[in-house]
Amino acid sequence: MGPTTHYMMGGIRVDGDSQASTIPGLFVAGEAAAGLHGANRLGGNSLSDLLVFGRRAGRYAAAFAKANGTVGVDETELQTAAKTALLPFERGASGENPYQVQYDLQDAMHNLVGIVRTESEMRQALEVIEQLRARAERVGAAGNCEYNNGWHTAIDVGNLLIVAEAITRAAVLRKESRGAQFREDFPGKDAEWGKHNIVVKRGADGEMQVEKRLLPPIPDELKAVIEEMK
Ligand SMILES: Cc1cc2nc3c(=O)[nH]c(=O)nc-3n(C[C@H](O)[C@H](O)[C@H](O)COP(=O)(O)OP(=O)(O)OC[C@H]3O[C@@H](n4cnc5c(N)ncnc54)[C@H](O)[C@@H]3O)c2cc1C
Repeated sequence: MGPTTHYMMGGIRVDGDSQASTIPGLFVAGEAAAGLHGANRLGGNSLSDLLVFGRRAGRYAAAFAKANGTVGVDETELQTAAKTALLPFERGASGENPYQVQYDLQDAMHNLVGIVRTESEMRQALEVIEQLRARAERVGAAGNCEYNNGWHTAIDVGNLLIVAEAITRAAVLRKESRGAQFREDFPGKDAEWGKHNIVVKRGADGEMQVEKRLLPPIPDELKAVIEEMK
């Protein structure tokens, strides 16, 4: 028996009211959006999250579209993305097996960044992720674009590696245990960390950056609701 992946805590950073991301015109709701559940998600919350914030995202996205019209997509960027997506077909059967890369990533994350975490193991995971990234750049796919799981996996592994690296770097930085994160080397809660989120972004040099950021103050009306629930 082993634990299964149940819920992704953390995701695209959005404005809490409008669900707008930092990319103009991109609105996010549901499990892809970060911030609602804090350090652990309570059972059943996801459905209410989807209903409340999905509605908000839809309303604000519609208002944005009305006010701004169509947001232009850079044709060159589009072509580059399409070309990159099709690269696995050029490598065909001589490329790396994408399922094997995905499996090796799952294995490393399960063993080194699982429920009980230590800095030394997570640093090992970062090394493995780096090696897997090189392999992910060589994955191949056979057949054509229709209903092709192998090709989808070949595209997915690059994204999975980004998420795995973000999870690991954030978990290394947070030197405390809280919610779903249990650090064997820092088993207690740290009140100071309780006031912070971790923001992950791509730096100007293209490298991933993880940053400890102070949480915005809780609005008075929400504080009153929390008090009422106590
Ligand atoms: C085992 C398990 C049990 C759970 N139990 C509960 C529970 O009891 N109560 C509760 O509230 N929550 C529960 N959850 C959590 C809940 O199911 C999820 O948080 C919720 O379904 C997330 O909804 P979503 O719309 O944000 O994302 P999803 O339901 O994941 O929807 C995303 C959709 O986007 C599609 N998609 C992805 N990429 C692309 C693309 N490139 N182009 C087009 N489409 C794309 C996917 O196919 C998918 O249909 C459970 C989750 C798991 C895994």
